[in-house]
Amino acid sequence: MANNFCVFLDAGHGGIGPDGNYTTAPGKQYQHQRGRFHQGNWFLEGVWNRALTRLVMSKLQHLGIPYYPVFHEYADWPLQYRVDLANWYHQNYRRGFFISNHANASGLGARGYEVYTSPGVTTSDRIANWHWEHTRALLGDSITMRADQSDGDYDKEARFFVLTKTVMPAILVEHLFFDQYEDALLLMDPEITDRFAEAQVRTIISYINSL
Ligand SMILES: [Zn+2]
Repeated sequence: MANNFCVFLDAGHGGIGPDGNYTTAPGKQYQHQRGRFHQGNWFLEGVWNRALTRLVMSKLQHLGIPYYPVFHEYADWPLQYRVDLANWYHQNYRRGFFISNHANASGLGARGYEVYTSPGVTTSDRIANWHWEHTRALLGDSITMRADQSDGDYDKEARFFVLTKTVMPAILVEHLFFDQYEDALLLMDPEITDRFAEAQVRTIISYINSL
């Protein structure tokens, strides 16, 4: 089945360019009062999103599961271009799946992990629930799991561009709140990051096995 299947991987925002500058809007970083993150005490969301997504790519590579990255090494590509890449290449495959990786910020001290799908009941909701379960199994003892169960499933719903404009099932994952110190420390733990990546691979395999 894997030959007819491709995972489109998005790492949100931009990374650190060759000049050492973070190529992303100011809201996608946070300067903590203590601790060491990506640049001194600055946590850079786009850098973390890339580290996680590259781990997912490495695991998929080892497993021989086709994937295509729709993000640049450091440039903050427009969402329209990322979606265009996924939708165009998706024509080559019978089935596909789109994952956008992010970490959150609230300015209010919120903590925890959230999975988003577009509004309405779609295949994405089924996949989001698997992802929730895999993440809880791997990390439920370490992280806060935030859910909206008003509609009978775990995922939250939002009209995010990458969720509504992609032609294949799509989820957007907010991995904890990087502006909250305890969550930021968790995000810098290599085993935690690996478990987040592992959950994505297990979700992808769950979906492939359901086809
Ligand atoms: Zn983000």
